[in-house]
Amino acid sequence: MPKDLKSFLADCIGLQEPWEICEAEGPSESADGNIHVRIRVPPSVRPLCPGCGRMCSCFDRGEERVWRSMDISAVCTYLHAEVPRTDCRTCGQLSVPVPWAGPGSRFKLVE
Ligand SMILES: [Zn+2]
Repeated sequence: MPKDLKSFLADCIGLQEPWEICEAEGPSESADGNIHVRIRVPPSVRPLCPGCGRMCSCFDRGEERVWRSMDISAVCTYLHAEVPRTDCRTCGQLSVPVPWAGPGSRFKLVE
């Protein structure tokens, strides 16, 4: 994947640290003619607890979830991500919030 495509997509998605794009397929490469972007938190990163903000160990990576956006170059764009769950001594196991799916987001959870 070209570096500029990666940063273009990261801008469109509003991606923030520690999330990174690990793979992207354009309309000409994917089986269904859509854009598919795989996003992850690198395994070396210890996530922050969404409850108390403390750095926690990662409990697990969760199931892959898929979000859809219609907004990138009029081609359907799907984001795929396994959302890490933290293992906090105080708060228990919580899913790390994803930066592209807040209120008013252009992305909709489909799976
Ligand atoms: Zn906590």
